[in-house]
Amino acid sequence: MRVILFLCSLSLLFAHDPHKQGRVLIYPDIPGYITLKADLHQHTVFSDGEVWPTIRVEEALKDGLDAISLTEHLEYQPHKNDIPHPDRNRAFALAVAAAKEKKLIVVNGSEITRRMPPGHSNAVFLSDANKMLIADSVEVFREAKRQGAFVFWNHPHWIGQMKDGTAKLTEVHKALLKERLLDGIEVVNEDSYSDEALQIALDHNLTMMGSSDIHGLIDWQYNVPEGRRPVTLIFATSRTDSAMKEALFARRTVVSFNNTLIGREEILLPLLVRSLTVESAAYSGKTSVLTVKLRNNTSSDLILQNTGDYLFYDNISVLTAPANSVTTLRVKTMQNLASLQLKFTVLSAVTAPKTHPTLVIPVTVKTEK
Ligand SMILES: [Zn+2]
Ligand SMILES: [Zn+2]
Repeated sequence: MRVILFLCSLSLLFAHDPHKQGRVLIYPDIPGYITLKADLHQHTVFSDGEVWPTIRVEEALKDGLDAISLTEHLEYQPHKNDIPHPDRNRAFALAVAAAKEKKLIVVNGSEITRRMPPGHSNAVFLSDANKMLIADSVEVFREAKRQGAFVFWNHPHWIGQMKDGTAKLTEVHKALLKERLLDGIEVVNEDSYSDEALQIALDHNLTMMGSSDIHGLIDWQYNVPEGRRPVTLIFATSRTDSAMKEALFARRTVVSFNNTLIGREEILLPLLVRSLTVESAAYSGKTSVLTVKLRNNTSSDLILQNTGDYLFYDNISVLTAPANSVTTLRVKTMQNLASLQLKFTVLSAVTAPKTHPTLVIPVTVKTEK
């Protein structure tokens, strides 16, 4: 009996420790949409990656992802002597077979791999990757569009192609945009983030993407479970590939990168509202100090700056609400209130370069009967 009690208290303890939550990525749904966690830029031995496609499916299932794409380089095939594969849809076919009867959407994709400009781009939701073997750097984008693909510019800031690490639109990109051949842009790739790419997304109405671009193992690259891969959160009307595609074209995405959330305010704010919720609020004894328990319902630590009307009893104006945990705040309301609002600037969220959203949290106080 004593052992059982001890185990129970241990599990309660762990329930509040983000490092004991396992590796599954958790983000809440928002009103009207299901939140799909996607990594749509990955490699296997079918281009320059180091694993078989089935490993990518297993990694995704361990991380609790909803969707993946294996975007093999069309033009860079270093393993082709060891693994000849005349069918460029082969990695996709193997992943689909491995994901059969699993809760994982696999979409067909390819990485168009060119010198800058235009650099590298992913086409996902392809019907036939073989038809993408086209030498002309613009015609290959037109083929992607003929197949109804969603196309995004990869790592536009990559120092391998941009020595100053800065994403810039070239004349070639402007021509691609004018012909509506580009739909999205990576603001996060692997372990890097680009403010300039974020600004390009805002200026040209592009979907914000974030992906691992994994070549080796997710666990080794990101030191799982302490670290985790970047993902694109896609807000879809249902858990289907067609709904996901609609959401991508409608630009309903937020990028999760370490503890940073990047997105347009109109979609990031509803996510934050569902991400930080009040568990309880009650005054301590006869004081006017209100104890508020805030639950962070995500896998990201949220860094908050108090911009509301009240000061805190225990905290300075900047505090962290750890991932998947409850944070207790003692709020000096100066008089006993029935309801109030807490207001925070979410410093770990970005809606534009150097711009952070403001989150207002309504609090209803529990009164003693
Ligand atoms: Zn690339
Ligand atoms: Zn890549």
